[in-house]
Amino acid sequence: MGLLGCAGAKAGLAASQTSPASPAHRGAGEPCLRFAHLTDSHLQPERGGARGTAACLEHAQSLDRKPDFILTGGDNVMDVFEAKQGRATELAQAFRATWKQHCSLPVEHTLGNHDIFGWNKPKSGTSGSEADWGKKFACDLYGFPRSYRSFDRGGWRFLVLDSVQSKGDGYVAFIDPEQLAWLEQTLKDTPVTTPICVVSHIPILCVSAMVFGNPRTLEKRGQDTIVQAGEMHTDGDHLHHMFKRHGGVKLCLSGHIHLLDRCQIDGITYICDGAVSGNWWKGPIQGTPEGYGVVDLWADGRFEHRYQPYGWKAEA
Ligand SMILES: [Zn+2]
Repeated sequence: MGLLGCAGAKAGLAASQTSPASPAHRGAGEPCLRFAHLTDSHLQPERGGARGTAACLEHAQSLDRKPDFILTGGDNVMDVFEAKQGRATELAQAFRATWKQHCSLPVEHTLGNHDIFGWNKPKSGTSGSEADWGKKFACDLYGFPRSYRSFDRGGWRFLVLDSVQSKGDGYVAFIDPEQLAWLEQTLKDTPVTTPICVVSHIPILCVSAMVFGNPRTLEKRGQDTIVQAGEMHTDGDHLHHMFKRHGGVKLCLSGHIHLLDRCQIDGITYICDGAVSGNWWKGPIQGTPEGYGVVDLWADGRFEHRYQPYGWKAEA
């Protein structure tokens, strides 16, 4: 399978609201903001996962135009969801050391399912009373007081959502009622003239969740198209209609699937932005190489996105 919905280009894989080559766009001046969107790094000592993350950070900081900040898309460490306490501590230390040494830019993090410590209690051996259990692990590591928030940069408002809700020893993707109330209020408080970028780890809407991994047997799915509840937001249609009603949401970025795809509906573009780790540090995945998104924003709500491979070769 190739790259979904995007045409390849030498310097990266372009997906923009207007054609990057259109004269109208070229004449519109420099973007007011550039950021690099690094999702699904799955930092780990094995398979060069820490070195690969470092290489990606160095690559992003040496772009022709240096990004103003780094935005992560979650799953920044290789799984602590099922990890024992010792392993979780080791990954946190490796994460801190790598980012401290290799990133000099401001960073905004997003929470992913693999960043939540011990929710699978049988596998992790946790009781739930550990000081850093659950989302606390990620909040402490990434330095945010709670798992969702907003921030403003370059005239844009960023809404960083927390996609991951617990179910049994696993998770499903939606935003909980408290977060939904916050989102409704934040949209209400944001003038329609302020362009909005929504960031979530799990895609709100995407195409790639339908073709990720092995095909589901026809026998199993009958005539239904099945997208699993952990692979795309189960409240995606509701969120989309909220965004559409508001009118200011231009771009929704996600990761989680590790594939690159883009869909556009009602003037809102949804981009699932590949993975820094590719196939969990085992090479490219279904045609998407190890890479990250480069996003340029204009104050009037236009943006350009390209997927940027950073030349990583998987280690044996
Ligand atoms: Zn994930």
